[in-house]
Amino acid sequence: MRFKDKTVIITGAGSGIGRAAARLFAEEGAQVVASDLSESVHETVAGLGGAVALQMDAGDEADVERLVATACERFGGLDVFFANAGISGGASGIFDSSVDLWAEVLRVNLIGPALAIKHAGPRIVERGGGTILCTASVAGLRSGAGGPAYSASKAGVINLVQTAAQQLSTSNVRVNAICPGLIETGMTQRAFDYAREMGKEDKLGRLNPLRRAGAPEEIARVALFLASDEASYVNGQAWVVDGGLSSSHPVTRQEFGKPAF
Ligand code: NAP
Repeated sequence: MRFKDKTVIITGAGSGIGRAAARLFAEEGAQVVASDLSESVHETVAGLGGAVALQMDAGDEADVERLVATACERFGGLDVFFANAGISGGASGIFDSSVDLWAEVLRVNLIGPALAIKHAGPRIVERGGGTILCTASVAGLRSGAGGPAYSASKAGVINLVQTAAQQLSTSNVRVNAICPGLIETGMTQRAFDYAREMGKEDKLGRLNPLRRAGAPEEIARVALFLASDEASYVNGQAWVVDGGLSSSHPVTRQEFGKPAF
């Protein structure tokens, strides 16, 4: 019960990583406020005790203010904000990405977490401390894991948590990012379905040393750790959870017990 009597807001909780996190935080005793653009967030909270569901847009300032106010009114304060909502922006490259696409991806993926910090930060300070977590991506570390707007937005999130951790100095509020690798969620479902249809499921995640894709719970468990007091000295960091994908330059494939070349 690491989060007993703690109030935790999660965005993008209607699916994937956010839904898994809502379940795990609730199991650890948290008062969960699950939010999403999609009405599927109501399914997320069904069966989660006193959890509250709110449909909202994580990239809209008035909606973020409403979300934070709802949590504080309902539960008397706020301890954790997990800014997790995100969109992929599709498969367009630099030369065919429109300005509208860039604007929407940056609005949801980067301005959304910035709004979370802006409006949740002071409320968590009032509580005497807590955590803000943002979902970035390995796409934010280097190219090759998403479109240009998506990757730039996630690189921005990594920098944002560094700056926010500094600006919340002495407040006892820690700010960190999580950088997932390839995880089977709503965002990636089409690729997983296609690979299975083609009988090529084993190709998914084959570039990391674990040679598999991840499950939403494997990210959510790290989110719980980072939000908990167990991570009390982790601040301003981007935690990579990718099966080892980003730990190496692209070298000749190696297998345990076999020569490299
Ligand atoms: P997901 O299953 O698609 O979940 C994302 C949720 O966010 C969806 O329910 C989506 O609703 C919602 N959402 C989209 N725009 C929103 C907005 N403006 N306001 C509120 N909610 C919104 O995908 P996921 O993989 O769990 O994504 C969670 C986070 O992980 C994202 O930030 C994503 O970039 C990041 N991530 C994912 C992977 C991966 O491999 N899956 C890897 C690295 C990072 P709709 O379904 O209605 O759009």
